[in-house]
This record gives sequence, C-alpha cells and structure tokens, in this order.
Amino acid sequence: MAALLELEDVHARYGAVRALHGVSLEVGEKEIAAVLGANGAGKTTTLRAISNTVRRSGAIRFAGKSLTRRTPEAIVRLGVAHVPEGRGTFAELTVDENLRLGAYTRRGSIKDDLKRVRELFPWIERRRDQQAGTLSGGEQQMLAIARAIMARPRLLLLDEPSLGLAPLIVSELFRIVNELNEREGTAVLVVEQNANIALDAATTAYVLEAGRVALSGPSAELRENDSVRRSYLGY
Ligand code: ATP
Repeated sequence: MAALLELEDVHARYGAVRALHGVSLEVGEKEIAAVLGANGAGKTTTLRAISNTVRRSGAIRFAGKSLTRRTPEAIVRLGVAHVPEGRGTFAELTVDENLRLGAYTRRGSIKDDLKRVRELFPWIERRRDQQAGTLSGGEQQMLAIARAIMARPRLLLLDEPSLGLAPLIVSELFRIVNELNEREGTAVLVVEQNANIALDAATTAYVLEAGRVALSGPSAELRENDSVRRSYLGY
C-alpha cells in the first residue's frame, strides 16, 4: 500500500542557506512517525517543506497527490495540519475563538468538531471564554493541537510539542496524541528533541543530521542503536 505522505530527495533553503540536502521519508496511513535530531539538523525545515512554507524542491506526495505546487492553504484543505513550534495560538483571542479559526478551511457546521475536541481535551469547555495568552504553556500547546484538528486533518505535523513543558505535561500531551491517532486514525509526523518520548509514541523514526536522514527504522530498533543511545537518549 502506498504511504500517506512521501518525501523523495527534498532540498530546502533559506536564501543562500541550504537547510535540507535530499531528505526522503514516508508516513503510513494512520501511523505515528517521528523525526529526531540535534539543533539545526533540519527538523523544522522538513515540516515547513511539507506545508510549503520554505523554498524547496524534490517530490512531496500526500494521499497520491503532489504537494509540490500547492499553496499552504491548499495543503491544509487536502488534510495536512501543521502545529508550528512555539504553539501558534492567537494570544488575544479566547479559547473558543481559536478553535473556530481552526475550522476556517471547512464549510458547514462545526458542532461535531467542537464535540470531538472536548472529548480529547475536557478542560477546554470550562475555559472557552479565557484569553488563550493566559493559559499555561501546556494548555496552550494542547489548544494549538485542538485548533489544528478542528480542520479534520488526515495528517498532523507537530513541531517540538514538548518544548519548555514539564515532564508530566509532556506525557499527558503524548497520551492525547496517541488517543487521537487511535480514535480517529489521524496520522502524525512529530519533530522532537526529546527522543525518549518520541520513540515511545512513534512506530517509525528518522534521525536527521545536517539536513540529511542519517538513520531510520522502526522505533524499537533505533532505541537499541548505539549511536542513537549515545547521542539522543543519553545512556
Ligand atoms: P531546532 O531544533 O533548533 O529548531 P531544527 O532541526 O528544527 O533545529 P531547522 O530550524 O530546520 O533545524 O534549521 C535547519 C538549518 O536552517 C539550520 O542551519 C538553521 O540555521 C537554518 N535556518 C533555519 N531557519 C532559517 C531562517 N529563517 N533563515 C536562515 N537560516 C535558517
């Protein structure tokens, strides 16, 4: 069966700075995959290449369609939702307004989607009128994910969701990502510096080094790999 997302020999750059040098990877339908790597390895750029928010070349296909020439908005409409690093909620708007914005690419009633989101994040209903900027870091990250899934994506791109959060909150966040994946079959490509938690959540992982995939395979195998252990797991 063809993968849901396929990247083949993807290059990307910021002006004269080349950030990706031929990245190839796949995410299966309903799969959670992880991209690991040190600072500056190209993890964020890989997600930006998928959502077409960086200059890139190479083949990128989603559900059998090429994303190469599509606008970022067209890519969202096809079913790819991107939660950027640093949360990306609108601080001045309420929780409820943030959620409604997440559904802007869709027509029709969003009642069912608000219900789906409340099932995954029960606290959201109680805080619906609170300004997003006054939520805790963990709540803001959850709201960013909740807003993304209002668009009913088939693939969720998560950029460093654990950044700056306490370990317990990180576990809760990944529990919810797993629940979303199991309940709704949403595929996830998560970029993480926290290799431990990412390898627990994902079935497949890719290790990026200097804009290239240095290693890839089933998470369980990468966990046993000596260089992954030394460089990313710290034991
Ligand atoms: P981090 O964990 O620090 O975000 P990363 O693995 O996500 O790291 P990228 O942000 O994708 O790495 O960066 C890849 C390379 O591209 C780095 O060399 C970085 O300095 C460069 N880069 C990233 N953003 C820009 C930009 N806006 N302008 C110029 N160079 C950039």
